[in-house]
Amino acid sequence: MKYVLATFNRDKARELQAILALPGVEIVPLADWPGAVSPEENGVSLLENARIKARAALALTGLPSIADDTGLEVDALDGAPGIHAARFAGPDATYADNVAKLLRELAARPGAPRTARFRTCCVALFPDGVELSADGVLEGIISETPRGTHGFGYDPVFQMPDSRSLAEIPASEKNAVSHRARAVRSLAALLAQR
Ligand code: IMP
Repeated sequence: MKYVLATFNRDKARELQAILALPGVEIVPLADWPGAVSPEENGVSLLENARIKARAALALTGLPSIADDTGLEVDALDGAPGIHAARFAGPDATYADNVAKLLRELAARPGAPRTARFRTCCVALFPDGVELSADGVLEGIISETPRGTHGFGYDPVFQMPDSRSLAEIPASEKNAVSHRARAVRSLAALLAQR
């Protein structure tokens, strides 16, 4: 089955393509499609935003689409940045800007727990209107300083129970345990039943 992968984020596309390298699954990146533009992600949940991306990709290509949306929930910040992870430090924020803001906000709350989780919602949408979705969660702790050069986004400050950051492990290891991998694996199980 051929799917269009509804993301323009090359870092996410790389991970999703590696995780979705499954028998019988062919992935076409939306970014390679002529005339593809990023839809406005104005949903109020990860599911809504993933659905917006999946719908836009299906409408443009006519292919079944797969989209994901990821948030970072930091307990000491009442769940922020949440679904606003990409724009935490402003509309044009870089990964580094967002990480810097996160560390500043936590530094302003000394003694507060640094527990956090990534949450991904993955949606598959078919031309007949059938929609399948699945979630994946990865629990961790926000470290005080960034560490590691792999991954992207908040990975350098997202520390796992073995105390390595997500940016200190190779892509193959991240793709075995990550929030995105868990969501995609659950989605793949649903796709296999369809
Ligand atoms: P999106 O809405 O799914 O594109 O993701 C929003 C933002 O969350 C991205 O711009 C990244 O800053 C961050 N993010 C998403 N996935 C990951 C990840 O696997 N590791 C670290 N940061 C991530």
